[in-house]
Amino acid sequence: MNAEEYLETAARFRREMVEPNAARWEAEKKQPVAALKQAADAGLMRLETPVEAGGFGLSFLTKLALCEDMSRADMPFIFALINTQNVAARLAAGGNIRHLEEYVPRILSGDMFAATALSEPGAGSDFAGITTHAAKVDGGWELTGEKGWITNAGIANLFVTYAQSDPNAGWRGVGSFLVDATMPGFTRVEPYALSGGHGIGAGGFKLDRYFVADEDVLAGPGDGFKSAMSGVNGARVYVAAMCAGLVADALEKAVSYGAIRKAFGEPLLGHQGLKWSLADVATELEAMRALTHWAGTLIEEERDAVTRAAQAKKFATERAVTLIEACIQAMGANGLREEHGLGRHLISAKIAGYTDGSIEMMNERVGAALQKDYAS
Ligand SMILES: Cc1cc2nc3c(=O)[nH]c(=O)nc-3n(C[C@H](O)[C@H](O)[C@H](O)COP(=O)(O)OP(=O)(O)OC[C@H]3O[C@@H](n4cnc5c(N)ncnc54)[C@H](O)[C@@H]3O)c2cc1C
Repeated sequence: MNAEEYLETAARFRREMVEPNAARWEAEKKQPVAALKQAADAGLMRLETPVEAGGFGLSFLTKLALCEDMSRADMPFIFALINTQNVAARLAAGGNIRHLEEYVPRILSGDMFAATALSEPGAGSDFAGITTHAAKVDGGWELTGEKGWITNAGIANLFVTYAQSDPNAGWRGVGSFLVDATMPGFTRVEPYALSGGHGIGAGGFKLDRYFVADEDVLAGPGDGFKSAMSGVNGARVYVAAMCAGLVADALEKAVSYGAIRKAFGEPLLGHQGLKWSLADVATELEAMRALTHWAGTLIEEERDAVTRAAQAKKFATERAVTLIEACIQAMGANGLREEHGLGRHLISAKIAGYTDGSIEMMNERVGAALQKDYAS
């Protein structure tokens, strides 16, 4: 499939599967596993994995377009899908032959789900402060500790897991290890009940002297931290694109409603105050898209994207909450009805403000670049 065919397939899947079911999935308070498998059947997991490894090898900008489009219907669904496909692309790019033959095809076909585990119950923003310990043993490493707030944790069987090999070494001690949930030493923690975000399936797992063979070390101590940080820039930008999708859907609903609903003898959109409020939403949506596209282009061209990615995510996640709220306000009490999905979107925007780094951590990244980027 080329990019155009892929995005057409995804949009059809959104219309036929995600839009009609998203509210029900959330009401059922669990991940829509069957729908994720159907998305895999439609080829949607093959997004970035190279063609020679069974994927479509599509670009980062295609990923952004997918994220914006699918998020219009359900941000948790696309977040879960992207997190599993990320691992296939990661293993196809830097895994060994066994990873390529055993794991990648199963993730692409939806036979196996996957996740990336940095956070812990006691460490989120302070990633270098993780305490899951990796001890060197003959032929590999033994991992002991607990991971928390991991997307897909309840359904995934494969986790790219970060652990600390030397508590005194800070980020230099962090490595990245492939953890298979079917092996001894792995125990799943029940996914959290998460207001409005059950489709993400955030939860955790415990490791008790879990053995990782040397060939399943994805990045050794020191390199693990760096590889996580380079991947996180992309994640920040696609989360920003998801926020644009949430706002675009909210705006479409508010404008359609405002064109029909009358107050004081004319459509709501005829009232300047309301029209200006939605004009602000439309303008900020375009600013969000432009900044996201700029950061995405830097990633696509393999240029330094740290600051722009942080700015795109900061702007999108902060503003999405306010902009969706303005759209709900413009629809009066009807804006609260579940059938419009704007309450779900509002919570999704809040969730986006934490995943892959909180708004405060984005401020840290942007703040660190102030002198370099904004002083002559
Ligand atoms: C739905 C969901 C899915 C997630 N999926 C994943 C996943 O797949 N993999 C994964 O590894 N993690 C995942 N996360 C975890 C996410 O990365 C963390 O929530 C995030 O890094 C923030 O960490 P924390 O929640 O522990 O907050 P904390 O680090 O405890 O921070 C609490 C608050 O303090 C602020 N704060 C912390 N330090 C500072 C500071 N120095 N200055 C100013 N403010 C500060 C934070 O910004 C935050 O507002 C997920 C989270 C959510 C909500």
